[in-house]
Amino acid sequence: MSYYVNDKGFYGEFGGAYVPEILYATVKNLQEQYLPILETDEFKREYHQLLRDYVGRPSPLYFARRMSERYGCKLYLKREDLNHTGAHKINNTIGQILLARKMGKKRIIAETGAGQHGVATATACALMGMPCEVYMGATDVERQHTNVERMKMLGAQVHPVRTGNMTLSDACSAAIRDWCCHPSDTFYIVGSTMGPHPYPDLVARMQSVISEEIRWQLQEKEGRDYPDYLVACIGGGSNAAGTIYHYVDDERVRIVLAEAGGQGWQTNRTAATLHRGSIGILHGAKMLVMQNDDGQIQEAYSISAGLDYPGVGPMHCNMARQGRSQVLSINDDEALKAGYELTRLEGIIPAIESAHAVAALSKLSFKADDVVVLTISGRGDKDIETYLANPQ
Ligand SMILES: *Cc1c(COP(=O)(O)O)cnc(C)c1O
Repeated sequence: MSYYVNDKGFYGEFGGAYVPEILYATVKNLQEQYLPILETDEFKREYHQLLRDYVGRPSPLYFARRMSERYGCKLYLKREDLNHTGAHKINNTIGQILLARKMGKKRIIAETGAGQHGVATATACALMGMPCEVYMGATDVERQHTNVERMKMLGAQVHPVRTGNMTLSDACSAAIRDWCCHPSDTFYIVGSTMGPHPYPDLVARMQSVISEEIRWQLQEKEGRDYPDYLVACIGGGSNAAGTIYHYVDDERVRIVLAEAGGQGWQTNRTAATLHRGSIGILHGAKMLVMQNDDGQIQEAYSISAGLDYPGVGPMHCNMARQGRSQVLSINDDEALKAGYELTRLEGIIPAIESAHAVAALSKLSFKADDVVVLTISGRGDKDIETYLANPQ
């Protein structure tokens, strides 16, 4: 058995491509073309050159000495916070825009919640000189004003979405509607390991540069190319997928994922989809979704805007259900505390999303020589006001 996607686009019972009739040919075309294009030498050369010279890769694998002492293990931090634009999302948008160009697409659309994926997409579009339209819930447009200004400065057009809860889930629906109207000339850059097949696999491959680097970096530092534990936060699942990609079928490596408990996964103020969700179809794929008895989507809540999506990508649904990954629910207050702790012990202010992964450390018990690699998915500059409003 494998945890990678099968040839029908499924991970166990999750995944697939449930799209409106009008998108069927477009999605099928993408399914047929993405792997042959990704495997060309030309694509690989351009992608890796941009990752190196523009994004700033490889990102360091940093041995965190004081945090290691605190948790009684050998803790390494994979520093995606040091990437251009401040998070892992740029790995994906750079790859997808190259794919869009090779497929002859002329126009880019994207959805965004907190605005991080919108900024990463607008950045890639500025770099390539392509028109960019971003759908964002009207509530998020207000809450995440600086990211809206960044996208506009980068030349993107931002469409506030006023349906439903006016948040990420509604922005995804609006982007899919746009795609239905312009299927032939438009490429939809999806921001996480979700959406119809092949997007979960496509995004995971774009982010897999993270675990590719972890392998040789660990070999250099520890004399072996695998850790005992991998730890990452999980919203839609892309930084987690990138962190674990080359290790999913390697049972020596334990996988621990931190999802956003909000005010507690038993409450209605939560984004802990893997704890709370039930099977449903959302945004083109079968996955675990937070929904009520009538199948209406229940709005997700978390202090971190990047984790409050009511679904989680199909690869992770399957791995969690099979027991391959251990999923912890981390509440707002635990994440804030961990964010402050990392700041004071290592001088690294993490995004509040990433702070959820840091908080997972206190719920695990390690042996002194356990090698733990934890991905810091983004930097905390965008979250300073939230941190300051919650002093520790
Ligand atoms: C968007 C975001 C996340 C959550 O998205 P995934 O697809 O689950 O990785 C996590 N951390 C940061 C910094 C983000 O911007």
